[in-house]
Amino acid sequence: MHILYVDESGIEDLSSGTSHFVLLGVAIPSEQWKSLDSALGDLKATYDLRDAEIHTAWMHRRYSEQESIADFDALSRPERRTATELAVKRRAGGVGILGSAKKVKAYRRESRAIAPYLHLTRAERIACLEELAREIASRRDVRIFADAISKPDFKTGHSTPYEMAFEQVLTRFQAYLEVSGSTGIVVHDNNATAAPRLTKLARKYHASGTFYRKITNIVETPLFVDSSLTSMIQIADLCAFSLRRLLENGEDGLWNIVETCADRQGSTCVGVRHYTGRRSCTCRICKAHGRGAKRASAR
Ligand SMILES: [Zn+2]
Repeated sequence: MHILYVDESGIEDLSSGTSHFVLLGVAIPSEQWKSLDSALGDLKATYDLRDAEIHTAWMHRRYSEQESIADFDALSRPERRTATELAVKRRAGGVGILGSAKKVKAYRRESRAIAPYLHLTRAERIACLEELAREIASRRDVRIFADAISKPDFKTGHSTPYEMAFEQVLTRFQAYLEVSGSTGIVVHDNNATAAPRLTKLARKYHASGTFYRKITNIVETPLFVDSSLTSMIQIADLCAFSLRRLLENGEDGLWNIVETCADRQGSTCVGVRHYTGRRSCTCRICKAHGRGAKRASAR
């Protein structure tokens, strides 16, 4: 049995936020789950993050509060935490934030998101993400399936970006299960908006297949879990973030590590698609996907 952990990166809304919306699943063979979960936990512990959620976007960014502290890197982890918490507290109180109460409120929300990582320098946070990525990449039978949608190329029609990406990821997972003679189950990050839609869609696919193929090897509708408690969902978040940053900013540090897990048939990386509609694209993902003569499809 394979468990597919699915998470998203980027904003689905076509009119705002990021240029891409990525939905990505990491398939783990169930017999590897225990050893992988424990390896990820041990790795997190070396960064004093054993019980923390690895939220890649928040860990990856620069913290100006830390950059304003003299010789920050030379401090011990407890000293760094104390010093950064003080800087955060001052700013959350409105010091140094120009503008409305709305901005202060947004900052308080941000400060809660970065709170678990304040004792780590940016280099340490990135090293932690890279080590987690390497742990995943070291497992021979872990596979990545993803759809990265270029939002300006998405035409609103029969489905939303989320639904199109979900169909694509599910189809690729099904194709992989067929070849490996295994069954699979899908586990999603809890998402109050998407949950009813995905459950309904999954039921439809179970009854009549996706646009591309019958769903014979996947059981149940997606299960929804709390990402803060599930390391594997955090890994899906890490991989989804890596793919989006590669496409949007050309940042390849993390994707270079996990790319080996992307599902392949021969030399073609069938598991990861960059959707740009009718617009041709020769990016690294499209080339690996065998795009060129053919437009993006579910091949
Ligand atoms: Zn491309």
